[in-house]
Amino acid sequence: MKAQRPTIVVHGGAGEWRRERHEAGIAGVEKAAQSGFDILKQDGTALSAVESSVMSMEDNEVFNAGLGSSLTYDKQVEMEASIMDGGTLSAGAVGLVRKVRHPVHLARLVMEKTDHIFLVGKSAERLAKIFKLEERDPTTKLRERYWRELRGKISRGNLTYLRRLDELLKSHPSFFDFDTVGAVAVDKEGNVAAATSTGGISLKIPGRIGDSPLVGCGTYADNEAGACSATGIGEIAIKLVVTKSTCDLMRQGLPPQSAAENIIREVNRRVHDAAKHMGLIAIDSQGRIGASHNSMHMCWAYMTPKTRKPRAFLKAKIIQKPA
Ligand code: ASP
Repeated sequence: MKAQRPTIVVHGGAGEWRRERHEAGIAGVEKAAQSGFDILKQDGTALSAVESSVMSMEDNEVFNAGLGSSLTYDKQVEMEASIMDGGTLSAGAVGLVRKVRHPVHLARLVMEKTDHIFLVGKSAERLAKIFKLEERDPTTKLRERYWRELRGKISRGNLTYLRRLDELLKSHPSFFDFDTVGAVAVDKEGNVAAATSTGGISLKIPGRIGDSPLVGCGTYADNEAGACSATGIGEIAIKLVVTKSTCDLMRQGLPPQSAAENIIREVNRRVHDAAKHMGLIAIDSQGRIGASHNSMHMCWAYMTPKTRKPRAFLKAKIIQKPA
């Protein structure tokens, strides 16, 4: 695909997408790509575009972000999000947020209204209140069903305490949902931005923070390199600082597609856990894009001035995990 500006790429999560959710997932990423692209088309910034795309997916219960977030081991919602501006390297992030309708918008407020990058829990919620952000209960029937199914499986297998994520994934792989959402964009001026939002992994221990709100792990953007958003098992993304690593390869001149593929290869080579699902979307300041994963699916879409409509897929370039 020829590089074009402006361009947006979004993802709705890597993992195993059950057939019952394929159609809604594709429609959801198309809508999200369109919403970000509409902003770019009117000369809006890459930052506003990625925020808008992610907000659109936070409102769509098919994704594990905002409405429809995964539930923790004790059946709570603890959402996380981050956003980064490649022009200034400014970033904002939130974690352990329970009621805010758009965690990614709250992350942008942390970036623009505070001197900090990352706020969690009560102080993040307090900031949301001060700026009168909308609240909503993000729990949905679907996530409650997944939660019940998984909890039931655990107790039948005599696994009374969630000690190791990989042990659990080995025995019950299909019950984990990796449907975090993210977006990367380049605007007309060549500025790049990235944003990511999630409910985290199902049955996570309360208080667990994954990669999604961490700069360099779930989200990274730098005009001198490119922008990247990750999805998959957060603990692995953190170990390999995957989004910064992908951007570093772009900084060295690799196109976003090769950069993303190389980092997925690195995950396969370096991580020996049974479960190592990982997916990446990337863009550079020319408007070249990349998307790659080692999971069965990654729901994603992109839009450029030439495509006229968003192009959406359930898979990108899959880098097979070694047997
Ligand atoms: N990366 C997210 C996390 O570990 C999960 C996901 O991508 O769905 O919290």
